[in-house]
Amino acid sequence: MNLSYWERTSFFKDYDYCIVGAGIVGLFAALRLKEKTPNARICVLERSIIPDGASTKSAGFACFGSISELIEQKKRSSEQELYDLVTKRWRGLNKLRTTLGDENIDYKNYGGYEMFRAMDREVWEQCINELPYFNHLLKNIFKTDVVYKIADEQTSALNFNNVEHLIYTPYEAQIHSGKMMQALIEKTRDAGVQVFFGAEVLSFNEHNNGVHIELSSAEIHTKKFLICTNAFTRKLLPQLDLEPGRGQVFVTKEIENLKIKGCFHYDAGYYYFRNIDNRILIGGGRNINFLKEKTTEYGITEEVKNEITRLLNEVILPNTNWEFDMEWSGIMAFGKELSPIISQTSTHVYCAARCNGMGVAIGSITGEELADLCIKNS
Ligand SMILES: Cc1cc2nc3c(=O)[nH]c(=O)nc-3n(C[C@H](O)[C@H](O)[C@H](O)COP(=O)(O)OP(=O)(O)OC[C@H]3O[C@@H](n4cnc5c(N)ncnc54)[C@H](O)[C@@H]3O)c2cc1C
Repeated sequence: MNLSYWERTSFFKDYDYCIVGAGIVGLFAALRLKEKTPNARICVLERSIIPDGASTKSAGFACFGSISELIEQKKRSSEQELYDLVTKRWRGLNKLRTTLGDENIDYKNYGGYEMFRAMDREVWEQCINELPYFNHLLKNIFKTDVVYKIADEQTSALNFNNVEHLIYTPYEAQIHSGKMMQALIEKTRDAGVQVFFGAEVLSFNEHNNGVHIELSSAEIHTKKFLICTNAFTRKLLPQLDLEPGRGQVFVTKEIENLKIKGCFHYDAGYYYFRNIDNRILIGGGRNINFLKEKTTEYGITEEVKNEITRLLNEVILPNTNWEFDMEWSGIMAFGKELSPIISQTSTHVYCAARCNGMGVAIGSITGEELADLCIKNS
């Protein structure tokens, strides 16, 4: 690169901390590093013109787990681990709100529902059996005895077809993922962090005093390198224990007299939908073909789109004229463990990734924990 003296001694002067990935995790890590070490030189490198990961493609559910999701997660963790995870999700959501402000992220507290059809009777019975258990387990987190409750009376008002039961929580909300990320980028820049867009990290090279980072048109040197590239992390750290999982999302055109308001979960969280600007946003269906969706390639498949169309026609929007208006996909990162990876991978390199599809909730705290680890070990 044809660098001037001015460029070398400003934009490209050595950094104390360099973060790759301007998603929710990377930007919260940057904010925390700046808060704890105000004089440090910090930059964030993002490959695209805007953040091009899960954070801007998400459904914007500010959620912490529906009952059937928690039942599934309980099979993979101890009670204490599950309690800690829900605590972290709730703390993370509060952190997001207090850092950015409800207005800036369009935080709307319409509540969350889990939906059960006649064919889901077995899951429903499991959920109502476990409902008192989860209300008891989570009562200290939410400071209430009733985190979840049965809300069957609302099914007809919502105009659903063939939905027999609903479980409701007033603690779930929805946000505008784009506005949230815009506010977060502004906040990070205002704090004095240099955020570079169009800066894809191709490789890095660690040496005694830090890390050389190779971009397509420049090289940057940093003392500490924090990798927050989520589902794309194995390009930089091939040994990391995570698998990509594609999520496909669809938004309808505006619908007259739309009755649906809130965040809805179906089929252990594999399907989800919500209202947005008199439209329905709906996504999921990864379980139709897990193998095919284990990819970092963006794309929409006919099989998922057909299933979502069927769900809309037969259950969610029966007797309603609706049409799809937009569709996109995003890539999440999953692993056997439910908690994210937050680790030091070598002397000067750190990594936080794998929010298991819940990064709106735990992304803020995950980024902060990575920053704290990095400062502690420096
Ligand atoms: C379709 C979908 C719906 C979702 N819905 C919800 C939801 O409703 N609620 C919820 O809690 N969670 C949801 N999630 C999950 C949530 O979005 C993620 O867990 C969270 O955004 C992860 O944040 P992150 O910062 O770790 O990763 P990302 O947002 O993926 O950020 C990683 C960044 O790294 C950049 N990058 C990658 N490689 C490089 C490189 N080599 N050089 C430079 N930059 C690079 C990417 O462009 C990206 O911007 C959803 C995810 C998807 C895909």
